[in-house]
Amino acid sequence: MPLDIRNIGVVGAGQMGIGICHVCALSGRSVHLVDVDTEQLDRAMAAVDHYLGRQVSKGLLTEAEKDEAFKRITFGSDVAAFKDRDLVIEAATEDEQIKKGVYKEVCPHLKPEALLATNTSSISVTRLAAQTDRPEKFIGMHFMYPAPMLDLVELIRGIATAPETFRIVEDLVLKLGKTPVSVEDFSAFIVNRILMPMVNEAIYALYEGVASVKAIDTAMKLGCRHPMGPLELADFIGLDFCLAVMNTLNEGLADTKYRPCPLLVKYVEAGWLGRKTGRGFYDYSGDEPEPTR
Ligand code: NAD
Repeated sequence: MPLDIRNIGVVGAGQMGIGICHVCALSGRSVHLVDVDTEQLDRAMAAVDHYLGRQVSKGLLTEAEKDEAFKRITFGSDVAAFKDRDLVIEAATEDEQIKKGVYKEVCPHLKPEALLATNTSSISVTRLAAQTDRPEKFIGMHFMYPAPMLDLVELIRGIATAPETFRIVEDLVLKLGKTPVSVEDFSAFIVNRILMPMVNEAIYALYEGVASVKAIDTAMKLGCRHPMGPLELADFIGLDFCLAVMNTLNEGLADTKYRPCPLLVKYVEAGWLGRKTGRGFYDYSGDEPEPTR
């Protein structure tokens, strides 16, 4: 029988780390969240409280369930607190050097049997595993954003990932109420490999003057029943993230079909990153988003 993961550590209190903590705590697990940035830890604490509160106001949780879940999360900046964790999920900044630094710090504090997972969207799981003292206990565990809302978790085996590691983490994902899919370690895995070229193509359509922002989004919503148009979606995800994935695909698979659209590059250079900066393919300064082209 797979080991039941009860105590989880999370590194990185950004938008993914917050969501992962939320999901794990709601499933009855104890979670310790670590970040180097103590102000970010304060924001994370407020964010988890806010999102749990929203579930109470929607009638999805009782006030008592919210309080219980919140009490199961602890926050701190010392990775020594991971000594009793069964699994640590690294959700630090998408930068290979930063992630390597995290493993160097975290590994000496882990129990020998503890598993280590990365939430990376694009870096080779095999290469990251090689930076740890436990490549056979290392796996890619790719939650979607926002983690509490989206049911998929891509599980990525590195070349050294042991079958037992995969089974234990797969079992955990099911217990978190999510659906795991198994993916081999290729650039951008499944969702981003298929989704980002579509978003990039929508930006090419805009760049080449095929249609306006509004027309492209309306066409894909009404014509394909997508809940959001591709440009709206790009703004929601962050244009810097879209560009990073396209660069990974372009470099990793060496096929010109993955060339990032020059307009996407320009927007990122301008700091127009979408919702988070108030401007992308839409302007978010008013009551309603206004197309910028
Ligand atoms: P983010 O920038 O919002 O947060 C990253 C956090 O990591 C920051 O709070 C930062 O202070 C912290 N950090 C940096 N170095 C650290 C260290 N040495 N020790 C501890 N904490 C450290 O990033 P994010 O969007 O939450 O992404 C995190 C990971 O999840 C990335 O690997 C990303 O590719 C992946 N991911 C992101 C999304 C998304 O849509 N944002 C979706 C799926 C996966």
